[in-house]
Amino acid sequence: MPENKKTFDALVVGGGIAGQEAALSLANMDYKVLLVEKELSIGGKMIQLSKVFPTLDCAACITTPKMSETARHPNIQLLLNTDIMEITKNNGLFNVNLTIQPTYVNPDLCTGCQLCEWACPVVIVDKYNNNMVGQKAISIAFSLANPKVAAIDMNHCIHCKKCEKVCEPKAIDYEMQPKNINIETKTVIIATGFNLFKGENKPQYGFKKFPNVIDAMQMDRLIAPTRPYNAVLRPSDGKVPDKIAYVLCTGSRDSSLENAIGCGAECSNNPICSQICCMYSIKQAQLLMGALPLADITIYYMDIRAFGKGYEEFFQQSKGMGVNFIKGKVAKINQKDDNSGDLILRYEDVTTGALKEANHDLVVLSVGVLPNNGITKVFTDEKLELDNQGFIKSIDELVSPSLTSIDGVFVAGTAAGPKDIPDSILSAGSAASEAASYINSTL
Ligand SMILES: Cc1cc2nc3c(=O)[nH]c(=O)nc-3n(C[C@H](O)[C@H](O)[C@H](O)COP(=O)(O)OP(=O)(O)OC[C@H]3O[C@@H](n4cnc5c(N)ncnc54)[C@H](O)[C@@H]3O)c2cc1C
Repeated sequence: MPENKKTFDALVVGGGIAGQEAALSLANMDYKVLLVEKELSIGGKMIQLSKVFPTLDCAACITTPKMSETARHPNIQLLLNTDIMEITKNNGLFNVNLTIQPTYVNPDLCTGCQLCEWACPVVIVDKYNNNMVGQKAISIAFSLANPKVAAIDMNHCIHCKKCEKVCEPKAIDYEMQPKNINIETKTVIIATGFNLFKGENKPQYGFKKFPNVIDAMQMDRLIAPTRPYNAVLRPSDGKVPDKIAYVLCTGSRDSSLENAIGCGAECSNNPICSQICCMYSIKQAQLLMGALPLADITIYYMDIRAFGKGYEEFFQQSKGMGVNFIKGKVAKINQKDDNSGDLILRYEDVTTGALKEANHDLVVLSVGVLPNNGITKVFTDEKLELDNQGFIKSIDELVSPSLTSIDGVFVAGTAAGPKDIPDSILSAGSAASEAASYINSTL
């Protein structure tokens, strides 16, 4: 833990791929970095993914070495489970108030042995696997977490003390309290990432109503090497699905979402393209063709936006493999009333204008990207501006895209707008180099 009033060259907020990249770039230039993550491990959304388009490299194989480098770099101090309460500016330095939330397990003593986890009788939903399986009330956040230390979810703990009894290093501390600290920093990099559109905000698609309508992050977990089950199984009955549909642009390029998505007036409609949904759906379709060679996979789309290097070839490859593409706008998803759990998808065939229906036994909603902009409220003396969609505003989009409305505050990755992983990494490198020249200019 940094001492109070310790001064850093940069505070990086968010430990996803963009935050890690920005922190490492600065640390490798010998700047002192504080990386603050609100969750129990760094990794962001990338550590949940199966493989990445268009190379189909394993996401965890790419991201875990970076997570280790970030966690161990001598110039990076890492604070997890930490909330930033306020950032003010004084004499060119940012003054930051932070609260480290209690995990009720001493991280310096915990060895990650998981004996506590096996002893705990309370099962809660597993956030990492998007609520598809359970985890214990005391557990390590996920198998690839870094650092690998346990934490207790006090909302569900029944204080049976079984974990305390089996913990040999005596790491359990039920009395742990939140800790407030205050540090100074010359620059701030915002890398707080994005939120995913919640399927239930498009009620006509039956997400959370019909068990066999899932979202794309759930499917990425089902096909990941660290997947919750051995095979791709549909939620209602554990059947191996054989007719899978993807509904692209769920919650993006959609102006019919008035007041549905709960992220403020700026984004109650989400007219923009999320940039990643076409490609991640095509990726999942290819992986499913390997996992379930007999399954039919149909992608319902408005347009396929395959804009990056190798992406068009990747799209063409999926057609060659036998993925069906239907240019169709999906209006409604219903569950059949024969107790099968199968679904009827009603759509407009855009090429003919005809209204059609198709049967599927699993539907995946390719949900869009929404802003995660809560961090703006911690800047109390200067305003961190947002763009029209609610992402952190880049004040010089064409020439210096990481500059924000506050001098000395930079933005990296999807906090500034939808991006895939390569673009998030590029933007983080740019933020780090802008931050470095800002620090040098103040010397
Ligand atoms: C289903 C799916 C599949 C995908 N597949 C691919 C793919 O195959 N290839 C590809 O290139 N891209 C893919 N993507 C996109 C990829 O996930 C993003 O490009 C990438 O995660 C962006 O990284 P980021 O660091 O900007 O944001 P995030 O991954 O969202 O990380 C943000 C981090 O900031 C933390 N944070 C947020 N707020 C705060 C706060 N106030 N204080 C402290 N910490 C905070 C979060 O906990 C998180 O750790 C996929 C996305 C989805 C949804």
